[in-house]
Amino acid sequence: MVSREEVWEVLEEYDVEDLSIATLGSHTALHILRGAKEEGFRSVVVCEEGRTAPYERLGVADEIIVVESFEEVVDEEVQERLRELNAIVVPHGSFVAYVGVDRIEEELYVPIFGNRWLLRWESERELERELLERAGVKVPRVFESPEEIDRPVIVKFPGARGGRGYFICSSPEEFEEKVEKMIERGYLDEEDVERAHIEEYVVGTNFCVHYFRSVVEDTVEVLGMDRRYETNIDGLVRMPARDQLEVDLEPSFVISGNVPVVVRESLLVQLYEMGDRVVEASEEIREPGLIGPFCLQTLCTEDLEFYVFELSARIDGGTNVTFLPYAFLKFGEVFTMGRRIAREIREARERGVLREVVT
Ligand code: ADP
Repeated sequence: MVSREEVWEVLEEYDVEDLSIATLGSHTALHILRGAKEEGFRSVVVCEEGRTAPYERLGVADEIIVVESFEEVVDEEVQERLRELNAIVVPHGSFVAYVGVDRIEEELYVPIFGNRWLLRWESERELERELLERAGVKVPRVFESPEEIDRPVIVKFPGARGGRGYFICSSPEEFEEKVEKMIERGYLDEEDVERAHIEEYVVGTNFCVHYFRSVVEDTVEVLGMDRRYETNIDGLVRMPARDQLEVDLEPSFVISGNVPVVVRESLLVQLYEMGDRVVEASEEIREPGLIGPFCLQTLCTEDLEFYVFELSARIDGGTNVTFLPYAFLKFGEVFTMGRRIAREIREARERGVLREVVT
């Protein structure tokens, strides 16, 4: 297990006037790298062979470290190069998915911007829920077994499957029927069914809220939000109801894009409170709590209450919508989450508190 002291020892060897910001070439790397350059850092991307084109063509990377597969970021050679470059690594969704929390906790001896131990808390559904419940934010009700289903529920399955095989049903009988269909289609196997997560289906509007916990300024900022664009559900709802009934298609929730959105101004207060509480809970769970970007995926009901169905303890893919309206209001210019991260690292360096923003 990598300890914070060990990370600080690595940082002590760094030339802090010559830092790099590094990430893996996927997910939100483009604006992380671009933001790094805008704030005066060297930008470094660790990229799989065959996937370098966006970073080359958009000119956002000062250095590209090519690997055969992303897990190699923990190979001694790659880590050594990152340390030579005085790199601070920014973890994102693909980083967590490809490298895995075990390797991040045990093998990565490069300072991470963010709280590396909380990545496990977003990856395991029970831990994620515990954090949200501790924070006291509203979460959809969970049903322990299919027999208990007495209202519309969404059924989810383990692993990063991007919403494939998820379904909606309203009774134990319908659950069994749909499970069978999904198995026939090869979306699920028996083992998945044992581990089904059954959750109240919240009818509401989707807001994925992009927060930034600034350690330097001791604040929790809301910088922007998006809603998910998911297939085939977003295609299905464009059909007239009559046809929806006739086609006998099951909705799926595979994310394919993000749409920028803003919330009614009066609802912002609620979002700030939720962010503050999640940060407080994260501090209790694992010091020093969330650092930098995190995201709450919410649904806003007709009573204008927000239910949180998912947490990202790092930069979320929805920040790719780039224009973060509240960041614009705060900084007076277009500000990506990537640039916000780099600004925090820069300010932490200026104030001599770089140690506080890495783990
Ligand atoms: P994953 O993390 O596996 O992608 P999510 O929990 O993000 O799964 O769910 C995928 C999608 O399903 C969401 O983006 C949302 O559209 C929908 N969804 C998830 N939970 C609920 C819920 N409790 N009520 C209504 N819709 C939900």
